[in-house]
Amino acid sequence: MRTREEMIQLIEDLSNANGVSGFEDEVAEIGRKEAEAYCDVTIDSLRNTYMELKNNKGRRPKVWMDAHSDEVGYIIQAIKPNGTMNFLELGRSEVSSLPTNKVRVMNKDGEYLPGIITSKPPHFMTEAELGKGRALSDMAIDVGATSAQDLKENFGIRMAAPVVPDVTCTYDEKRDLFMGKAFDCRVGCAALLESLNQLNAEELNVDVTATMTVQEEVGERGSMAAVYNIDADVCIAFEGCPADDTFSPDYMIQTALRKGPMLRHFDCSMITNPRFQRFALDLGEKLGIPVQESVRSGGGTNGKYIHASRHGVPTIIIGVPVRYIHSHNAICTLEDCQNAVKLAVEIVKALDAETIQKF
Ligand SMILES: [Zn+2]
Repeated sequence: MRTREEMIQLIEDLSNANGVSGFEDEVAEIGRKEAEAYCDVTIDSLRNTYMELKNNKGRRPKVWMDAHSDEVGYIIQAIKPNGTMNFLELGRSEVSSLPTNKVRVMNKDGEYLPGIITSKPPHFMTEAELGKGRALSDMAIDVGATSAQDLKENFGIRMAAPVVPDVTCTYDEKRDLFMGKAFDCRVGCAALLESLNQLNAEELNVDVTATMTVQEEVGERGSMAAVYNIDADVCIAFEGCPADDTFSPDYMIQTALRKGPMLRHFDCSMITNPRFQRFALDLGEKLGIPVQESVRSGGGTNGKYIHASRHGVPTIIIGVPVRYIHSHNAICTLEDCQNAVKLAVEIVKALDAETIQKF
């Protein structure tokens, strides 16, 4: 079991890691290093990380635990003669919020160099342009190069370079608040790694295999591949989930900060197995672990491919509430992450062949 300080450090390290969809190597490396003590770890060519508890015995029902390693960011589309760059999104963000944000652009040597998302300054805009929202095509990324040649020779930046929000995670100990980027799903990765750590010390009736899957933000592609490698009987997918407690009417708030992990009944990608979901919610209530529930009109998770794979895999989502996901700066708490771990660990401890059969 990690200490409070170790958990804080892990969340900070995961948040700070550069890992937009398709370029998750740094996150996979953190996962491997952290999990090696209690798991056998392998990594596939997509950079999906597979972690098998060292205490697995085989010939027992298999629980799959997942969290995705990628984050929302950008990719360089084209280099302009003036040395600035056009870019596209990896995952979906709110485009109007992007200009003036700092980013890190990876060069050919794998180094991340600082840059800024820019748009035409107001001084040079026409009256008509001033009142208008800006599209992605009106923006550019500028690392300070003076020409395409300068960018290539002195910065080593090429087409298709990945671009990450340049944000450093902070933790306010007194108020238990993280501010940083990529808590979707790095706080889920932290919950996953800590759950595995605690589960390896327990006497279980099941085996546990976990993944840190890539490319969730561009259409759950890592999990689409991982389902071929894991013959799971049930799955728990961690998420960093959008908190709605700062703009929804009270009766619609389903994911609030400090109210515990959120278990999602429904979204665009999955109708959650109602029996497994009930089992998890009842267990939370019985043990006094705070839980929230949601029914979402949009969104999706890795549950999409996992629950519909093989013979059908009962899957639940355990989401850590995160305010302002898919933007450069987000907020979450250690308390919610720890409660997500607690719930997941208790669920796995309570699972056995007979229980799983009933799902
Ligand atoms: Zn996510």
